[in-house]
Amino acid sequence: MGIIESMRLDGKKGYVTGGARGIGKCTATGFAEAGADVAIVDLDYDEAVKTAAELAEKTGRKVIAIKCDCTDPEQVDAMIAQVVDELGGLDFCHNNAGICINAPAEEMTYAQWSKVININLNGIFLTDIAAGKYMLAHGGGSIINTASMSAHIVNVPQPQCAYNASKAGVIQLTKSLAIEWAKKGVRVNSISPGYIGTDLVLTNKTLIPLIEQWNAMAPMGRLGKPEELESICVYLAGDTSSFTTGSDFIVDGAFTCF
Ligand code: NAD
Repeated sequence: MGIIESMRLDGKKGYVTGGARGIGKCTATGFAEAGADVAIVDLDYDEAVKTAAELAEKTGRKVIAIKCDCTDPEQVDAMIAQVVDELGGLDFCHNNAGICINAPAEEMTYAQWSKVININLNGIFLTDIAAGKYMLAHGGGSIINTASMSAHIVNVPQPQCAYNASKAGVIQLTKSLAIEWAKKGVRVNSISPGYIGTDLVLTNKTLIPLIEQWNAMAPMGRLGKPEELESICVYLAGDTSSFTTGSDFIVDGAFTCF
């Protein structure tokens, strides 16, 4: 089998949190196009249902929608059980749901801070552990977490200390789990996207006016497209990345290089 053929995900089952739109929708598309059956997991159930139907039609794979708040341990456990029940197993997952709140540190409320940390870090912990427990007991698997270039640099000019701290936490959590599970068949990696043109950016009134400034700072002079994260995630989900664990993949058009 050639290398491209061996990167396919035929017969594999996985889910994507925050899969209804944006980056998660694109990686779910990549997984299904590579042959996997996929669950679209999201707080926004209506959009998840639409995305699942669209991907099933486009790829011919089984694609289901599951409503889940990734910050709720009981909902996360129920989501894993539903994935296993309806898809027949769990080989990989992309724990990707996240939000951003911008506020100067001295004005950020504890409620704002907690909301960001709860979704971006605690939510990744809950989904990683629930998926990891299943994979540890069922022959292994691959977990992909969405961090951000904000784990590596402090974005300017917008103030976003909670977001930056949450994403740095995702990378250390990823590495910690990778070490703990390295001999047990469960691999854990993260991706760190640069600025990507999704709703998170394009519908945020405080961020829209900054896009021109970011593009002026960006070596490629543009935002990334969510589709540009598909291939790295398909690689990480499958068996050709069998020696890759505990790694973070920066996909940012060289934004963090200087
Ligand atoms: P998006 O806002 O387009 O989509 C996020 C999805 O997550 C939404 O469908 C939302 O309903 C869902 N979601 C939010 N909270 C949830 C929860 N508690 N439980 C389940 N689902 C929840 O965002 P995006 O740009 O696609 O971002 C996806 C991930 O990528 C996030 O973790 C984000 O921090 C990260 N990221 C984005 C960028 C960017 O520039 N867009 C850059 C780096 C990292």
